[in-house]
Amino acid sequence: MNSESIDLLRSTVRDVPDFPQPGILFKDITPVLADGALLKLAIDAMQEFVADQRVDKVVGIDARGFIFGAMLAARLGCGFIPARKKGKLPWRTHGVDYALEYGSASLELHQDALAAGENVVLADDLLATGGTAAAALELIQKSGANIIGSFFFIELDFLKGREKVEKFAPVKSVLNY
Ligand code: AMP
Repeated sequence: MNSESIDLLRSTVRDVPDFPQPGILFKDITPVLADGALLKLAIDAMQEFVADQRVDKVVGIDARGFIFGAMLAARLGCGFIPARKKGKLPWRTHGVDYALEYGSASLELHQDALAAGENVVLADDLLATGGTAAAALELIQKSGANIIGSFFFIELDFLKGREKVEKFAPVKSVLNY
Protein backbone atom coordinates (compact mmCIF):
# COMPACT_ATOMS: atom_id res chain seq x y z
CA MET A 1 0.00 0.00 0.00
CA ASN A 2 1.56 3.33 -1.04
CA SER A 3 1.87 6.29 1.33
CA GLU A 4 -0.58 8.39 -0.70
CA SER A 5 -3.34 5.80 -0.12
CA ILE A 6 -2.46 5.55 3.57
CA ASP A 7 -2.62 9.38 3.89
CA LEU A 8 -5.99 9.42 2.13
CA LEU A 9 -7.39 6.80 4.51
CA ARG A 10 -5.88 8.53 7.53
CA SER A 11 -7.33 11.94 6.62
CA THR A 12 -10.80 10.38 6.15
CA VAL A 13 -11.01 8.76 9.61
CA ARG A 14 -12.93 11.25 11.77
CA ASP A 15 -11.78 12.02 15.32
CA VAL A 16 -14.73 12.44 17.70
CA PRO A 17 -13.66 13.76 21.14
CA ASP A 18 -15.38 12.51 24.30
CA PHE A 19 -17.34 9.65 22.69
CA PRO A 20 -18.78 7.41 24.10
CA GLN A 21 -17.53 9.03 27.30
CA PRO A 22 -15.30 11.94 28.39
CA GLY A 23 -11.60 11.45 27.65
CA ILE A 24 -12.03 8.99 24.76
CA LEU A 25 -11.00 10.20 21.30
CA PHE A 26 -13.20 7.98 19.15
CA LYS A 27 -11.89 7.02 15.71
CA ASP A 28 -14.95 7.12 13.47
CA ILE A 29 -14.46 4.89 10.44
CA THR A 30 -17.89 5.54 8.88
CA PRO A 31 -16.53 8.16 6.41
CA VAL A 32 -14.13 5.48 5.08
CA LEU A 33 -16.96 2.94 4.81
CA ALA A 34 -19.11 5.47 2.95
CA ASP A 35 -16.51 5.97 0.20
CA GLY A 36 -16.33 3.06 -2.25
CA ALA A 37 -12.78 3.76 -3.42
CA LEU A 38 -11.47 4.11 0.15
CA LEU A 39 -13.34 1.02 1.33
CA LYS A 40 -11.64 -0.94 -1.45
CA LEU A 41 -8.24 0.50 -0.44
CA ALA A 42 -8.80 -0.50 3.19
CA ILE A 43 -9.55 -4.11 2.25
CA ASP A 44 -6.72 -4.17 -0.32
CA ALA A 45 -4.37 -3.26 2.54
CA MET A 46 -5.72 -6.00 4.84
CA GLN A 47 -5.52 -8.54 2.03
CA GLU A 48 -1.83 -7.63 1.54
CA PHE A 49 -1.22 -8.71 5.17
CA VAL A 50 -2.29 -12.26 4.28
CA ALA A 51 0.38 -12.48 1.54
CA ASP A 52 0.47 -16.03 0.19
CA GLN A 53 -0.70 -17.79 3.36
CA ARG A 54 -3.66 -20.16 3.19
CA VAL A 55 -6.59 -18.85 5.24
CA ASP A 56 -9.59 -21.06 6.06
CA LYS A 57 -11.57 -18.65 8.26
CA VAL A 58 -11.61 -14.98 9.17
CA VAL A 59 -12.96 -14.26 12.67
CA GLY A 60 -14.45 -10.75 12.99
CA ILE A 61 -15.16 -9.08 16.32
CA ASP A 62 -18.61 -7.64 17.18
CA ALA A 63 -19.54 -5.24 15.69
CA ARG A 64 -17.25 -3.22 13.40
CA GLY A 65 -14.94 -6.19 12.99
CA PHE A 66 -17.81 -7.87 11.13
CA ILE A 67 -17.49 -5.25 8.38
CA PHE A 68 -13.75 -5.63 7.80
CA GLY A 69 -13.68 -9.34 8.57
CA ALA A 70 -16.54 -10.30 6.27
CA MET A 71 -15.18 -8.20 3.41
CA LEU A 72 -11.73 -9.73 3.85
CA ALA A 73 -13.20 -13.26 3.94
CA ALA A 74 -15.17 -12.62 0.74
CA ARG A 75 -11.98 -11.37 -0.93
CA LEU A 76 -10.03 -14.43 0.18
CA GLY A 77 -12.87 -16.79 -0.69
CA CYS A 78 -12.85 -18.25 2.82
CA GLY A 79 -15.42 -18.50 5.61
CA PHE A 80 -16.36 -15.75 8.08
CA ILE A 81 -16.94 -16.40 11.79
CA PRO A 82 -18.53 -13.79 14.08
CA ALA A 83 -17.10 -13.42 17.60
CA ARG A 84 -20.12 -11.91 19.34
CA LYS A 85 -20.92 -10.15 22.58
CA LYS A 86 -22.50 -12.33 25.29
CA GLY A 87 -25.95 -13.74 24.58
CA LYS A 88 -26.12 -12.90 20.86
CA LEU A 89 -25.16 -16.24 19.30
CA PRO A 90 -28.07 -18.71 19.02
CA TRP A 91 -26.20 -22.04 19.22
CA ARG A 92 -23.84 -23.55 21.83
CA THR A 93 -20.98 -21.21 22.67
CA HIS A 94 -17.58 -20.88 24.32
CA GLY A 95 -17.06 -17.55 26.07
CA VAL A 96 -14.41 -15.43 27.76
CA ASP A 97 -14.58 -12.26 29.89
CA TYR A 98 -12.25 -9.33 29.20
CA ALA A 99 -11.51 -5.69 30.15
CA LEU A 100 -12.17 -2.81 27.72
CA GLU A 101 -10.66 0.67 27.35
CA TYR A 102 -14.03 1.76 28.72
CA GLY A 103 -15.82 -0.94 30.81
CA SER A 104 -15.80 -4.73 30.58
CA ALA A 105 -17.52 -7.37 28.42
CA SER A 106 -17.70 -11.01 27.32
CA LEU A 107 -17.04 -12.46 23.89
CA GLU A 108 -18.42 -15.73 22.52
CA LEU A 109 -17.83 -18.09 19.60
CA HIS A 110 -20.04 -20.93 18.47
CA GLN A 111 -18.51 -24.20 19.67
CA ASP A 112 -18.57 -25.61 16.12
CA ALA A 113 -17.33 -22.45 14.37
CA LEU A 114 -13.69 -23.47 14.02
CA ALA A 115 -12.03 -26.86 13.54
CA ALA A 116 -8.63 -27.90 14.91
CA GLY A 117 -5.88 -27.27 12.35
CA GLU A 118 -7.75 -24.57 10.39
CA ASN A 119 -5.78 -21.44 9.50
CA VAL A 120 -7.51 -18.44 11.04
CA VAL A 121 -7.08 -14.67 10.77
CA LEU A 122 -8.58 -12.30 13.35
CA ALA A 123 -9.95 -8.98 12.04
CA ASP A 124 -11.22 -5.89 13.82
CA ASP A 125 -11.60 -2.20 13.07
CA LEU A 126 -9.38 -0.98 15.87
CA LEU A 127 -6.76 -2.20 18.35
CA ALA A 128 -6.88 -0.11 21.54
CA THR A 129 -5.86 -1.78 24.83
CA GLY A 130 -5.94 -5.20 23.16
CA GLY A 131 -8.35 -6.77 25.67
CA THR A 132 -11.01 -7.52 23.07
CA ALA A 133 -8.63 -9.00 20.51
CA ALA A 134 -6.80 -11.07 23.16
CA ALA A 135 -10.16 -12.50 24.31
CA ALA A 136 -11.06 -13.46 20.73
CA LEU A 137 -7.62 -14.99 20.22
CA GLU A 138 -7.96 -17.00 23.43
CA LEU A 139 -11.24 -18.44 22.11
CA ILE A 140 -9.70 -19.22 18.71
CA GLN A 141 -6.72 -20.87 20.39
CA LYS A 142 -9.02 -23.08 22.52
CA SER A 143 -10.60 -24.42 19.32
CA GLY A 144 -7.22 -25.80 18.22
CA ALA A 145 -7.09 -23.63 15.08
CA ASN A 146 -3.80 -22.07 13.89
CA ILE A 147 -3.75 -18.28 14.26
CA ILE A 148 -2.08 -16.77 11.19
CA GLY A 149 -2.33 -13.13 12.24
CA SER A 150 -4.42 -10.35 13.77
CA PHE A 151 -5.28 -7.59 11.33
CA PHE A 152 -6.66 -4.19 12.26
CA PHE A 153 -7.69 -1.18 10.24
CA ILE A 154 -6.51 1.15 13.03
CA GLU A 155 -4.02 0.66 15.88
CA LEU A 156 -3.70 3.13 18.76
CA ASP A 157 0.01 2.56 19.44
CA PHE A 158 0.09 4.52 22.72
CA LEU A 159 -2.32 2.04 24.38
CA LYS A 160 0.16 -0.81 23.75
CA GLY A 161 -2.55 -3.36 22.87
CA ARG A 162 -0.02 -5.00 20.54
CA GLU A 163 1.82 -6.41 23.59
CA LYS A 164 -1.22 -8.55 24.53
CA VAL A 165 -2.08 -9.59 20.98
CA GLU A 166 1.39 -10.35 19.58
CA LYS A 167 1.71 -13.27 22.00
CA PHE A 168 -0.73 -15.20 19.77
CA ALA A 169 0.36 -14.24 16.25
CA PRO A 170 1.84 -11.36 14.21
CA VAL A 171 -0.13 -8.09 14.40
CA LYS A 172 -0.61 -5.86 11.35
CA SER A 173 -2.50 -2.57 11.11
CA VAL A 174 -3.33 -0.34 8.14
CA LEU A 175 -3.21 2.95 10.10
CA ASN A 176 -1.16 3.61 13.26
CA TYR A 177 -1.78 6.53 15.62
P1 AMP B 1 -9.65 -2.77 23.18
O1 AMP B 1 -10.20 -4.02 23.77
O2 AMP B 1 -9.33 -1.74 24.21
O3 AMP B 1 -8.49 -3.03 22.24
O4 AMP B 1 -10.83 -2.11 22.35
C1 AMP B 1 -11.05 -2.47 21.07
C2 AMP B 1 -12.49 -2.35 20.67
O5 AMP B 1 -13.13 -1.17 21.18
C3 AMP B 1 -12.55 -2.28 19.18
O6 AMP B 1 -13.46 -3.28 18.75
C4 AMP B 1 -13.01 -0.89 18.85
O7 AMP B 1 -14.11 -0.98 17.99
C5 AMP B 1 -13.40 -0.23 20.16
N1 AMP B 1 -12.64 0.99 20.49
C6 AMP B 1 -11.82 1.15 21.56
N2 AMP B 1 -11.28 2.37 21.60
C7 AMP B 1 -11.74 3.02 20.52
C8 AMP B 1 -11.52 4.33 19.98
N3 AMP B 1 -10.71 5.22 20.58
N4 AMP B 1 -12.14 4.65 18.81
C9 AMP B 1 -12.96 3.75 18.22
N5 AMP B 1 -13.21 2.52 18.68
C10 AMP B 1 -12.62 2.14 19.81
